[in-house]
Amino acid sequence: MQNFEFYNPTKIVFGADTIAKLSTLVPEHARVLILYGGASAEKNGTLAEVRAALGQRHVQEFGGIEPNPSYETMLRAVEQLRREKLDFLLAVGGGSVIDGSKFAAAAALYDGEPWEIMQSFGSAVTAALPLGVVLTLPATGSEMNNGGVITRKSIQTKLPFHSSHVFPRFSVLDPSKTYTLPGKQVANGIADAFVHIVEQYLTYPAGGMAQDRFAEGLLQTLVEIAPRALARPDDYEVRANLMWVASLALNGLIGAGVPQDWATHLIGHELTALYDIDHARTLAIVLPSLLQSQRDAKRAKLLQYGARVWGIDAGGEDERITAAIQRTRAFFESLGIGTRLSDYGLGQEAVDAVVAQLQAHGMTALGEHKKIDLAASRAILHAAL
Ligand code: NAP
Ligand code: FE
Repeated sequence: MQNFEFYNPTKIVFGADTIAKLSTLVPEHARVLILYGGASAEKNGTLAEVRAALGQRHVQEFGGIEPNPSYETMLRAVEQLRREKLDFLLAVGGGSVIDGSKFAAAAALYDGEPWEIMQSFGSAVTAALPLGVVLTLPATGSEMNNGGVITRKSIQTKLPFHSSHVFPRFSVLDPSKTYTLPGKQVANGIADAFVHIVEQYLTYPAGGMAQDRFAEGLLQTLVEIAPRALARPDDYEVRANLMWVASLALNGLIGAGVPQDWATHLIGHELTALYDIDHARTLAIVLPSLLQSQRDAKRAKLLQYGARVWGIDAGGEDERITAAIQRTRAFFESLGIGTRLSDYGLGQEAVDAVVAQLQAHGMTALGEHKKIDLAASRAILHAAL
């Protein structure tokens, strides 16, 4: 096992009717900014519960954070935080609202040009305002990690950042708040969490026996509950498991002491930046093709993944690896998610454009071996046509 440090200070408050606990979770004298997305949190009553729980505190609101939160939008939130001397952010929504809020929390206390936060991938951050979360969409794990992804629309650039200063102080996870999610977002959430686990697991053997078993258990749970999560929106137990798996998928635990890949995410980000394809869908396009192209480098783990997650134990090694990759693709397709660029109306021009973006963003040595160069990314995208 590799050396590691594990730190996760986010308090999780999990269960039905837990939003009321904001009354004690948010400091009594806080000047609060509630941040949210479009109309969903207002329509399904989540915002009303949040407002009621905050009681007499000074509260302002900032709505309109879009999926794939933009730098441009979040700068307006930063302006409000500074102008109104607000000192606590409460993100109510999915990964986009949480990520955008993390960025705003850091940018509000940042002296230079806030884009430097993104250009430094977060290392420029030395402080952030405190942040709490009410999660409405199980997917990204942002509710329990220190990362965020921000898109600067004017230059079609989507970059990740990390900083220990932006860990949420707490996250309220009420599974019943996910009942109103459209099926498409549930499917996206399952696929995103699935790929988060795979990016920290399907690399090369490094002696992380517990990490492997955790990862395999989380993957198996997703496979088991996916059909019910889609068919029965108000099945509390299924939604509770989905919510907790998505948090555990990217809270640092399964990735501690083992190699990590993340090439699928970094290539996928360019597809979202250029063509506005949902984050999870970009991952479903890239991953099967990446596994195929990296099947030699990932050989041992592909065999383990096939056997332990999909029960594939018949046939020769190559046959089993092919079957494991096929099961992965079929899983995404079973969620109603297309796994080919052509499913999204894209062709060769997209391959060229994404490779150019990867080059522009310095994404020229990706993956656990840092060996996915531009030619390899091109081959992966080409195979995904
Ligand atoms: P999202 O972009 O936050 O939300 C997608 C849609 O779901 C929105 O249109 C939203 O509508 C709707 N929605 C949310 N909760 C709802 C509910 N309870 N009922 C009905 N509709 C609801 O989706 P996401 O997948 O959670 O986040 C994606 C973003 O996270 C991407 O930018 C991705 O790059 C990033 N990401 C971050 C991490 C990380 O570790 N930080 C990891 C992976 C991905 P409204 O706008 O109307 O509310
Ligand atoms: Fe993701």
